[in-house]
Amino acid sequence: MATATNGMLQKKYQYIDIGANLTDPMFRGFYHGKQSHADDFDEVLKRATEQGVRKMLVTGSNLIESESAIQIARNNRKLLYATVGVHPCHSLDIENSLDPDKYLQDLEALALTGKKEGTVMAFGETGLDYARLHYAPADIQRKYFIKQLDIAQRLHLPLFLHSRDCAKDFEAILVPRLPKLPKRGVVHSFTGTVKEMESLVALGFSIGVNGCSLKTEENLEVVKAIPLDKIMLETDAPWCEIRPSHASSKFLKKNNEDVELPPVVKKEKFVMGSMVRGRCEPCAISQVASVVAALKGVTVEELCEIAWKNCVSMFGFDEEM
Ligand SMILES: [Zn+2]
Repeated sequence: MATATNGMLQKKYQYIDIGANLTDPMFRGFYHGKQSHADDFDEVLKRATEQGVRKMLVTGSNLIESESAIQIARNNRKLLYATVGVHPCHSLDIENSLDPDKYLQDLEALALTGKKEGTVMAFGETGLDYARLHYAPADIQRKYFIKQLDIAQRLHLPLFLHSRDCAKDFEAILVPRLPKLPKRGVVHSFTGTVKEMESLVALGFSIGVNGCSLKTEENLEVVKAIPLDKIMLETDAPWCEIRPSHASSKFLKKNNEDVELPPVVKKEKFVMGSMVRGRCEPCAISQVASVVAALKGVTVEELCEIAWKNCVSMFGFDEEM
């Protein structure tokens, strides 16, 4: 059986994780501002590559995080790539900055630099999140979604979009701007309805699926309905892991080495090389793939191949390893 500690064993599938929040302090051992264990960032990358993850898109969620995302992409060429943008829950970072216009100019300049040097593959994460209005009120979210779409029209990068409990407003803002956004993009961590998904697909968007997209039976019906040529796989690590209570977990058969991950321990019991309970990692994409393949009635190999193609044709990853 393949284990993560044996670097000689290569998994047979190749994955692209389009949503990895690798700038999160958890990957440096920090939880709620407190260091609980040693920095194991390199181990996280190692586990991912041993599982067959060949490319990861590191999510930028505000200006500073986008800078860090680019920095770690520079340090891990051909494996890590970055997005640049401000997540709707961080909209107040712009609004409350000394000079919001300057903040947005800096964001655009950063995205352009990253695009030119080949580290930035998408603009975002941007969008709306009405499930978490306590982070930023809806009007502020809309204001900076619009302003970021204005920037996107000049950058010619595909979009990395976030849409939660906001489908009507989301489309109302997006649709009139689409003629100037020909590269479209992906709506990641999708948890909407079949109708909402179909509408986004008809507009030319791809749909990103992670553990959060597979929680309930209703979620599973939505994923079943996504056209194969519009599916992208992601983990949203350190979030959105598949849990035993989720509807998806019944598809994770025991003794299946494709979905088997290294031992998981509580962060207090951390030893170098172990995974940490509650901290999702990009290597867990094999579990997402396994569930999605079962739902779509294709083999994991077929799914990985098409998801790979979908990602490469939208983002233009350098296919060299
Ligand atoms: Zn998101």
